[in-house]
This record gives sequence, structure tokens and C-alpha cells, in this order.
Amino acid sequence: MIVSTPTPTPTPTPTPIFVSKTKALAAIEADLTKDCRRCGLCEARQKVVFGEGSPHAELVFVGEGPGADEDAQGRPFVGRAGLLLDKMIAAMGFPVRDSVYIANVVKCRPPGNRYPTPEEVVICFEFLRAQLRAIDPRVIVTLGNLATQTLLKTSGGITGMRGKWQTWQKIPVMPTYHPAYALRDKRAKKPMWRDMKKVIGFLGKK
Ligand code: URA
Repeated sequence: MIVSTPTPTPTPTPTPIFVSKTKALAAIEADLTKDCRRCGLCEARQKVVFGEGSPHAELVFVGEGPGADEDAQGRPFVGRAGLLLDKMIAAMGFPVRDSVYIANVVKCRPPGNRYPTPEEVVICFEFLRAQLRAIDPRVIVTLGNLATQTLLKTSGGITGMRGKWQTWQKIPVMPTYHPAYALRDKRAKKPMWRDMKKVIGFLGKK
């Protein structure tokens, strides 16, 4: 009796989750970068800084808003504070910066690097919320006061909140100092690194 080798039934290609994450992020970006004029920050900005990194990132860093370098390049954290953030990301064991995702609360540079107004934050937060929902990371790290207060809806200062786990929509959040602050006051670097070690531990890295 000839037993023929059964023809393998083609396994349907599962729709990879990253396709939908990538598409979702692209749609949010297209909506925002289509000459956004939702608030006054559009007047002086050069480029909208949407955010960048892996749509499948386990870890998302959230900063305040673009500075001059970011405004010119349209990319988050590319100035001095970004160099420190890059070092931290590498020290945490991520092979490249694009292993994580980096975004800001406001996507356009406040003139003269002033603090964003509550109205600007409320308007732009919809985009950060959509980004975070699309990526659905395992951990969010908020950098500094604005990111921490906006995401966690608190008026608490970063000095009191840093290093203590919080949650945003069931996603663990680790608040820490903003790298620009750590550049101004080097004493902030050690506690910042202690906070990141908690994140590394949670992610089971290293
Ligand atoms: N500071 C921020 O908060 N975000 C940037 O993108 C750059 C500097």
C-alpha cells in the first residue's frame, strides 16, 4: 500500500500584532503631522515631533516636549538630554535606541522652551494617549514633572514621586527625573539609575 505523504495544510499566517500597532501609530502620526493647528504651538514650530521607536516596544519613555534640536530635526530627544537618555537606554541593555519608544507630552516646541500651558497639554495629550494605547507597552517611564503629572493626573512633584511604581490604564509607570534636570544637577543621576534598575528588574532584562 502506498502511503502518500500528506500534503501539509498551509497554516494561515496569523495577523501579526505588530502590523496593527504599526498601522495604528502611522494613522495617529498622519493625523497629527498633517499641519496640526490645534493649539498655538503651531505658530512658531518648525517640525511636529511625533515620537519614534519600535511600535512593539516593551518600554516607552515620555518626556515633556521638543526643544530647539528636536524642533529642527522632527525627532524626540536628539539634543544633550537625548544623549544622556541614549546612554541610559544602552546601559539598561537595549541594543539600540529604537528598541524602545520615545514620545513627549506636547509634540511641538514651546517658544523659548517655556513650560507648556495646561491648554496645550490637554489638547496634545490625546495624541500621547493614542500612542500609548497603540503600543501598549509593558512599562512607561515618565521623565520629569510634566510627563508624570499629566499621565498620572497628579500635582505631586517628581522628587517625591520618582522611584515609586504607579499605573496608567493598568500599565506600570515608573516616574523618574528628566535627563535635562540630571544634566543640570549631576546628583540626580544616581537616583535616576536606581529607578531604571527597577524597570530592568521588572522587564527581566540582564
Ligand atoms: N526634552 C524633552 O522633554 N523632550 C525632548 O524631546 C527633548 C528634550
